Amino acid sequence: MKTLIIGSGLAGITLVRELRKRDKAREIVVITADNGSFYSKPSLSNAFAAGKTAASLVLTPAAKLEQDLDILIMAQTAVAGIDAARREVICTQDTLPYDQLVLAVGASQIPLNLAGDGVADVISVNDLADYAHLRRQLEGKRSIAIVGAGLIGCEFANDLHLGGYTVDVYDQAEQALGRLLPPAAAQRMQDKLSALGIRFHLGSRLEAIQRDGERYVLIDRQGTARPYDVVLSAIGLRPNLALAKTAGLTTGLGIVTDATLRTSDPAIYALGDCVETGGRFLPYVMPIMQGAKKLAATLCGQPEPVDYPAMPIVIKTPACPTVVSPPPSADGHWEETPAENGLRGLFIDRAAGRPSGFVLQGDCTKERMALAASMPPLGLH
Ligand SMILES: Cc1cc2nc3c(=O)[nH]c(=O)nc-3n(C[C@H](O)[C@H](O)[C@H](O)COP(=O)(O)OP(=O)(O)OC[C@H]3O[C@@H](n4cnc5c(N)ncnc54)[C@H](O)[C@@H]3O)c2cc1C
Repeated sequence: MKTLIIGSGLAGITLVRELRKRDKAREIVVITADNGSFYSKPSLSNAFAAGKTAASLVLTPAAKLEQDLDILIMAQTAVAGIDAARREVICTQDTLPYDQLVLAVGASQIPLNLAGDGVADVISVNDLADYAHLRRQLEGKRSIAIVGAGLIGCEFANDLHLGGYTVDVYDQAEQALGRLLPPAAAQRMQDKLSALGIRFHLGSRLEAIQRDGERYVLIDRQGTARPYDVVLSAIGLRPNLALAKTAGLTTGLGIVTDATLRTSDPAIYALGDCVETGGRFLPYVMPIMQGAKKLAATLCGQPEPVDYPAMPIVIKTPACPTVVSPPPSADGHWEETPAENGLRGLFIDRAAGRPSGFVLQGDCTKERMALAASMPPLGLH
């Protein structure tokens, strides 16, 4: 049995670890466009203030992974296509056969659709090489504009502020973290970050980024222009679908899989940020950890559907510690209660009449484990 995995991120490597617990003998090959080193991607948005370089974020170099896990890693190798009928993966130099193929190709930053000659220089951070680039660009600089006030934008804002930079955050939405947090929790986050000196420009329609010597000028629809040394985009990720399309797989928002993470081709599976299962796109660590265990069983001949419990997300903003467990369905309402030095919010599911999601901030984050255990599973429809 030859299992080929495309991608050496958290999804690809966690799956290898789970497979090896069950099967020491099978041939496993990991093909990856990057250098194959294992690192924790969530650390990218809280590493700067801690003075971490890209090299110091590497947890396990590729050569050690190969040795420890008895696998072959084909690093710096971009897969160009998949011939699903022949069960072959097409790389620039080679064609590789497989019995089982797993797509763990992740997601990419959505490009900033703005005018101006500064747009090409906008940085986004989605892997170690991007983080190294950000650090180089920040050397000797002072001011940063972050476009996108979501989870990653707010985390970078807090981290780069702690790193000594002047930070402005832009978003077209009226609320920071609008997709994850209910209004009072979002406002509390914004207030805490603002109290540090981070400036929010919400409801802001940016039109262009123009170069002005060494600086970049952000111009909004009203014609307001503000200059910055560096511009970072954190407007969101979308799954990498190009390879799946070469194989003729069904895709939607992500690579569509059933509950066993099998795609529309019976020999091809998908895991991680590239996946859409039961209509859900869950680009977070916990679904990968849960999914890798189940997929390893499935690949070893004991199909196990994924069955996600409530999976709280920790927002790494030291100025406003926050944990949110998004409800499985938006049909209901939030009840948010300020507490001493914190906030507690419950999402009440309309049909069930009971809590199905929560948000905790400040001292209330201590309640996270107990609350998570009382939440219904995510459920896949
Ligand atoms: C800054 C940041 C902070 C985050 N913080 C959190 C957090 O606090 N909590 C949380 O739960 N989640 C967080 N996330 C999300 C989490 O990190 C991701 O869900 C997870 O790392 C995704 O892993 P992955 O393996 O699916 O994708 P990736 O790590 O993106 O791996 C994709 C792999 O596919 C390879 N690849 C792609 N295309 C090809 C090709 N054509 N040929 C060969 N190889 C290819 C790439 O080289 C790479 O090795 C954060 C994400 C970011 C960017």
